[in-house]
Amino acid sequence: MALIVQKYGGTSVGSVDRIRNVARRVARFHREGHQVVVVVSAMAGETNRLLALAKELSANPDPRELDVVAATGEQVTIGLLAIALTEMGLKARSYTGGQVRVLTDNSYTKARILSIDEAPMRADLEAGTIVIVAGFQGVDADNNITTLGRGGSDTSAVALAAALRAAECQIYTDVDGVYTTDPRIVAEARRLDTVTFEEMLEMASLGSKVLQIRSVEFAGKYKVKLRVLSSFEEPDATSPGTLITYEEDETMEQAIISGIAFTRDEAKISLMGVEDRPGIAYAIVGPVADANIDVDMIVQNIGASGHTDFSFTVNRAEYQRALDVLGREKGRVFKAREIIGDNRICKVSVVGIGMRSHVGIASKMFKALADEGINIQMISTSEIKISVVIDEKYLELAVRVLHQVFELDKEPA
Ligand code: ASP
Ligand code: MG
Repeated sequence: MALIVQKYGGTSVGSVDRIRNVARRVARFHREGHQVVVVVSAMAGETNRLLALAKELSANPDPRELDVVAATGEQVTIGLLAIALTEMGLKARSYTGGQVRVLTDNSYTKARILSIDEAPMRADLEAGTIVIVAGFQGVDADNNITTLGRGGSDTSAVALAAALRAAECQIYTDVDGVYTTDPRIVAEARRLDTVTFEEMLEMASLGSKVLQIRSVEFAGKYKVKLRVLSSFEEPDATSPGTLITYEEDETMEQAIISGIAFTRDEAKISLMGVEDRPGIAYAIVGPVADANIDVDMIVQNIGASGHTDFSFTVNRAEYQRALDVLGREKGRVFKAREIIGDNRICKVSVVGIGMRSHVGIASKMFKALADEGINIQMISTSEIKISVVIDEKYLELAVRVLHQVFELDKEPA
């Protein structure tokens, strides 16, 4: 018998029928003798609908009130799931984030969890009651309702698993695990049985939408055993999904590359002919950061005759705002011959822990892209990933070709 935390995402609770299906799976684990804590998201599309209502009334709604509105989505699904389980003859109780005291800081719309009061949940579990907790939400020290950022139910589940020292945190979603890349682009993409925590962290930050990045960070901090599984299989099926592991398993032959990640909505800004002097990077990136715009990849050329070129990428949604900020600062805090931008780019990355111990990954990647005539505009690397910026029209081709040359369609030997 073990304590298991299960999280079901929006599509998994997207209709009454699907909620009934979730109840069947939860009931099965309960029958097998496990203590189960269930975390649910709002029904698919519901959070978007709620936020859109607020935006109809105000272009800039008070974040406190936005959270009050957004948190209702999960309150509906916890109640419905409790009703479905009760109807099956089981004991179940639903709780909002505030009721189990998911205490957060007061950064509305992107709050961080500080602590969770596990005692009331323990009492329920001991009494054979299934505990259902609303994902995505908590309360701050003054009892204001807070939310954890989009996709935050993953983090709720991992945090609950950590607080309860659960044997496993199972994230049920509409895919049956973490894939070598998006199967909608590469039909041969393969489900990974395991992926290391570091790889998962890179993949989440590089655009894989399977897990909210904060949930992965949280899992790493508390070494939560985290597994991604499909909620669309029969409730009795026991497919293994993908397990996130913490130590490189010495006995297992680790693939050098685990996956190809990509982000579509990128934009690039280049400042040509800026002065090559101390403080220039700060003079450019500082005002952009002050405007709360995330700067991603940064490339600065070697200076020549006192001048250099400086490029960076931002999310496409922030492109115009970043250009406006730089336009305002140009000639004031820095000089530049020209500012040019391109919002038709994307980022493609290969990720793999094996890069630490193998050479030639970058050259293999660059050759594969060159063979297809794909021009690389920017490059950045970490210990376990190589990312390139390319024209967005080559995204699918690049992903397919890289998947093939790194033989990700084949099980590692
Ligand atoms: N319902 C919230 C969202 O759509 C949280 C979640 O689904 O994880 O972002
Ligand atoms: Mg999600």
